[in-house]
Order: sequence, then C-alpha cells, then structure tokens
Amino acid sequence: MTPPPFDLVVATTNPGKVREIRAYLPDWNCLIPPADLLLEETGNTFAANAQMKATQAALALDGWAIADDSGLEVDSLDGAPGVFSARYGRTDRERIERLLFELGDERERGARFVCVVAVANPQGEIVAQAEGVCRGEILLAPRGTGGFGYDPIFYVPQQGLTFAQMTPAQKQQVSHRGQALQALVPQLRQLR
Ligand code: IMP
Repeated sequence: MTPPPFDLVVATTNPGKVREIRAYLPDWNCLIPPADLLLEETGNTFAANAQMKATQAALALDGWAIADDSGLEVDSLDGAPGVFSARYGRTDRERIERLLFELGDERERGARFVCVVAVANPQGEIVAQAEGVCRGEILLAPRGTGGFGYDPIFYVPQQGLTFAQMTPAQKQQVSHRGQALQALVPQLRQLR
C-alpha cells in the first residue's frame, strides 16, 4: 500500500463531519485538531467559511488542513437556515424542531444541502476546493436514527430514504459532502 500523501487536520469540532470526511478520504491520515483550536466562521458564504476555517487551522497547527462548511437551504424559507444551519438552535434536536416549526404545514418542502470543502497548505493558502449539492425534501417529522444534524428530516426521493435512514455508504454516495469530496480527491492527489 502506498503511504498517505500527507497528514490532514480536519478543521471542525463536529464529530459527524470528521467521521464522514475520514470515510471519504481513506488514503489520507485525517487528524482531529486540539480541542482548544478556535475556528471562526464569519463569512456570508459556505466557500468563505470553509476557506477561513482551513486557513486558520493550517496556520495554527503548521500543517495541511481541510475544512467543510455546509448547511441546509430550504426553498420556501428563502434559503434559510443556510450558512446559519449550525447556529439555528443549541442542539440537533432544537435545530430540527425550529425548522419544522418555521415550515409549519407549508406544502412546498423542497430543500438542498450544500457543502464546500477547502484545503489549505501549511502556509495557510487555499490549494484545493470543491462544492457538492444534494436536493431533497423536508419531512413533517423525523425518520431514522443514523447520521447527524438535520439528517432525520432530510428525505431524498430517489432513494426513498432520509439521510438518517441511509447506511454511511449510501449517504456518502448521494450527499452534498460525498459529492464535494469526490470532486476534491483528484485535486488532493496533485498536492504533495
Ligand atoms: P458548519 O459547517 O460548521 O457551519 O455546520 C453546518 C451545520 O449544517 C451542521 O451543524 C448541521 O447542523 C448541518 N449539516 C451539515 N451537513 C449536514 C449533514 O450531512 N447532515 C445533517 N446536517 C448537516
């Protein structure tokens, strides 16, 4: 087996993201950052926030870093919660409850998950970036126990399942993060 091209710090405090990113990048040694690493995300776009987090982690730890900024955009809420998806409530349960409350009995329940992944070199420069999108619908009530975040209320019609009902491999195939990482891997292979 060829050795991993390089260590990659995963610039996030979200264990769900770390788990998925590790599964998508088996050839890289994906490291968890120290708990006291501060990651700001003050941008207005997923791309700006992913770049900001990757650069901060790379400079703070003097190594290669990958960051993911992602969120749920609901059509009939004008794209909310969007970049504020993590800040929509204090826990996953609160975030889901708030979203279901905001949507009420609205019949138009189309939504999309968006993910931008960015990689910074040890100098903090962004050297690779990719985006992934997955369309689906917001259910009236949670279904399934897998995954994290809004997974139990995000239904993908082609699969007939919510993200929380999919196996990790199924979610990897269709999800926004899966698409983004699939597009990122060829760029990563160019960097050594
Ligand atoms: P951030 O990228 O750290 O701003 O956080 C993104 C937030 O969007 C997460 O905390 C989740 O609430 C939500 N999110 C992102 N990706 C997923 C996913 O794959 N499933 C469910 N929720 C997600």
